[in-house]
Amino acid sequence: MGTSVKDQLILNVLKEDQVPHNKITVVGVGTIGMACAISILMKDLADELALVDVIEDNLKGEMMDLQHVSLFLKTPKIASGKNYSVTANSKLVVVTAGARQQEGESCLNLVQQNVNIFKFIIPNIFKYSPNCKLLIVSKAVDILTYVAWKLSSFPKNRVIGSGCNLDSAHFHYLMGERLGIHSSSCHGWVLGEHGDSSVPVWSGVNVAGVSLKNLYPALGTDSDSENWKQVHKQVVDSAYEVIKLKGYTSWAIGLSVADVADSIMKNLRRVHPISTMIKGLYGINDDVFLSVPCVLGQNGISDVVMANLTLEEEAHLKKSAEALLGIQKELQF
Ligand code: NAD
Repeated sequence: MGTSVKDQLILNVLKEDQVPHNKITVVGVGTIGMACAISILMKDLADELALVDVIEDNLKGEMMDLQHVSLFLKTPKIASGKNYSVTANSKLVVVTAGARQQEGESCLNLVQQNVNIFKFIIPNIFKYSPNCKLLIVSKAVDILTYVAWKLSSFPKNRVIGSGCNLDSAHFHYLMGERLGIHSSSCHGWVLGEHGDSSVPVWSGVNVAGVSLKNLYPALGTDSDSENWKQVHKQVVDSAYEVIKLKGYTSWAIGLSVADVADSIMKNLRRVHPISTMIKGLYGINDDVFLSVPCVLGQNGISDVVMANLTLEEEAHLKKSAEALLGIQKELQF
């Protein structure tokens, strides 16, 4: 046998350990998981991407589909497997696995199903990446972030829910549409529970530091003839509309997860409305996760910005916390 083409072509000068330094895992490669994966790849956030799911054919197909275009990507390794050894040494693990809510299904029923799935997933993530940050996307996201915190026994800074990052981005977009200004120049925070019970903080809505509430005190109230409340209502309603039209949501949550991942992987210390353990804030004394403005970097959530909430907004947050606690108490771990 002659020398191989590889041996003739390449002279090895260094034996290297191929340990990843910026590895991200996505657990669950359904529509949301793959939207997260492609968004993370397109932002060049990782030197290795691992994908995990229980449906092996689909998982391998998704991995191969991405590997075939490595030419256009700057993530040198894309791996997948049912076994969590493939996730070893991840800096960030994004969990999108779970059942989707069926028509008429109670929230408690859906959450319990996802808790059962998490009982398998979270200890396995811990086993192979005990120092990772966990980013929970599966619904109900605020409750499942609590569940992941309990099951992982990670410190609270490393257990993050995607929370209202998407809701707030959507608010920026709709505000921009009204004003004819790009979303990035429209500022408004949607906080609290992700979804139907989220809270728009009208006092902080501004463009270039100019408070809209100061210009127009009726902003966001029932007596507002311009009906700005509708902007928040649309944030809440349009996920349902997208699901009705195309069957599911994907790109918006995928890109918003990649935005959160960006802050963590590059230690940007940007402030995001994401779900964190809120005990001790706004008069809430229980272990519940809700979205507040959080400083996000390499250690996850290092600080919380104390948003100026009105008494009404604070009461709304408390009510969400009580509702979440009520469901959490019913869950079987
Ligand atoms: P999907 O059904 O398309 O995908 C779910 C995936 O999870 C499937 O591939 C399934 O095989 C996998 N899975 C199930 N059990 C698993 C396990 N034990 N280990 C690994 N993988 C497992 O659903 P989807 O549309 O991608 O939604 C995923 C989750 O994201 C749902 O819970 C959904 O409600 C939630 N979601 C969250 C937001 C948000 O803003 N946080 C937005 C939309 C959807």
